[in-house]
Amino acid sequence: MTDMPGRPPTASELLADPVVVQAMDEAWAESQSDDPENRHEEGGWIYMNLTTGEFTTRRATRGEQALIDLSHPPRGKGIVVGKFHTHPNPSNEGWDPGPSSSDEIVDKRHGVPDLIRADDGVYVSGPNSRRGGLAGGSGYPT
Ligand SMILES: [Zn+2]
Repeated sequence: MTDMPGRPPTASELLADPVVVQAMDEAWAESQSDDPENRHEEGGWIYMNLTTGEFTTRRATRGEQALIDLSHPPRGKGIVVGKFHTHPNPSNEGWDPGPSSSDEIVDKRHGVPDLIRADDGVYVSGPNSRRGGLAGGSGYPT
């Protein structure tokens, strides 16, 4: 109770949280980046419990080779404060590991930090923290 949050976390605070790190590691492993036939995007959403400040995650249905739909976060334990997805295609084969132009458009609309795991590191797209603070409902901020 002493950690009752007054504001949503920043992207770097999310990236420092073990729950988020583990969820992103699992998503990366399941993306099968080493398998040219089966590599695909994985991802999900990050929720913050408004009483304890704890983060939990939920995973989305698997995506395609270069696409995943994170438009409809299911209900979670708290409000959506971030989302994450993978870019499993190899940067040394000419794939851009950073946010795509469609990522940037969607991330602006969703209004929460988007953490992207690629083969050469982690990228952040969208706002640095949930738009409008803790207000605006439990899904994406309205
Ligand atoms: Zn993307």
